[in-house]
Amino acid sequence: MSLRTADVENVANLIARDLDAILAELASLVRIPSVSWNAFDPTQVQRSSEAVAALATGLSFFDSVSILQAKKSDGTGLGQPAVVARRDARNGRPTVLLYAHHDVQPPGADADWLTTPFEPVIIEDRMFGRGAADDKAGVMSHIASLRVLTELSDQVDLGIVLYVEGEEEFGSPSFQNFLNDNREVLASDIIIVADSGNWSETVPALTVSLRGNVTFKLTVRTLDHAVHSGMFGGVVPDAMLAMIHLLASLNNADGSIAVEGLVSNAPETPDYDEAQLRRESGLLDGVSPLGTGSYLNRIWNQPSITVTGIDAPNVDNASNTLLPEVSVRVSVRVAPGQAASEAAAAVTEHLLAHAPWGVVPVISDLSTGEPFLADTTGTAAIAARAAMTDAWGVTPVDMGVGGSIPFISDFVAMFPEAQILVTGVEDPDSRAHSPNESLHIGAFEKAICAQTLLLLRLNDEQ
Ligand SMILES: [Zn+2]
Repeated sequence: MSLRTADVENVANLIARDLDAILAELASLVRIPSVSWNAFDPTQVQRSSEAVAALATGLSFFDSVSILQAKKSDGTGLGQPAVVARRDARNGRPTVLLYAHHDVQPPGADADWLTTPFEPVIIEDRMFGRGAADDKAGVMSHIASLRVLTELSDQVDLGIVLYVEGEEEFGSPSFQNFLNDNREVLASDIIIVADSGNWSETVPALTVSLRGNVTFKLTVRTLDHAVHSGMFGGVVPDAMLAMIHLLASLNNADGSIAVEGLVSNAPETPDYDEAQLRRESGLLDGVSPLGTGSYLNRIWNQPSITVTGIDAPNVDNASNTLLPEVSVRVSVRVAPGQAASEAAAAVTEHLLAHAPWGVVPVISDLSTGEPFLADTTGTAAIAARAAMTDAWGVTPVDMGVGGSIPFISDFVAMFPEAQILVTGVEDPDSRAHSPNESLHIGAFEKAICAQTLLLLRLNDEQ
């Protein structure tokens, strides 16, 4: 059953009517500095879980609303508090799980912000603040769409689980145990993960693939102690030189990945030219892009390898010494369709085989996150596309994302029959994780509208 135009207008009008109140609720969530990283105050994450639980309770819709914690997988105590609310399905309707997270990234240096990170400010059509987009707007899109659903539908038969995690930005260390502990209350047929973005502030998207990741520390040793570069330089290799040669072996001359065994895909991608790439990434004039294939295929469907940190003397403290040991942190993005463990094995094998001068590199502190490839033909994906088309007035793009949401594979493992939809409120200017994070209010309104229409469809469709 397709929704009538009158229904679409009705939903849009109700959201427009409530918008100021929704933005005020979002602002009060943003004011809580719920950074989930170890070095930050956990009572703020607790406060933000309480604020989300209060919003869920305020809907007078759920049979239960709880704040729950689970043990971290590494055995170092409990993870951050998550909010779980459930209302059981009636009359054979499906159950939909609405996921978002209430924790945020650290704000970074205040000086890099044009506004104050935890004091939300609306400038023109955007709300600025840490978490304004990622992912407190995701939380509010669930709350607001449920509010409209209950107002519009005389009978909600759809089962709904609201699951708002508190540690996504810290790698979800207790996620697996959380799913195990709360399997029954989380059980659902459709899972909507509202933690991604849209193609632009005027064109919606369904995220259909995500790259996985592999990170590790790589250490190279060549000497058992530092020595004078004048005495032995030129004959004894230093660790930095060995590391530079080893890292250089990871890419071909054109910048494409030289590691055998890392897979790539090449599905069709939307138009995205070099000018747009340069504008959005800040790539300097004269510096050429890496690799081959369409730019979006390189970002969405090919592996990449980046060195994100290095332990070596800093420039001011550098002396004329041959360094005995150098370590770097390596971040590998894994193409959708390849298991992260397989990618880790391929990179490890490459590094062991390509170390120069008999050096034996050591890999430690390795962690992996699985990529995601959606079934784009399921009934939920079809209903979601129709709802997005109605709400935004344009057909959604099937989008890949170069980043990773590793916990999705935990959902897949726990609920293999469930259809997973990855949606979100962000747009290319949202700058999630960066200073000056912001939410486009028009896109937010459309995203709430699309989700409400989807829930109405799933509630009414026979
Ligand atoms: Zn997020």
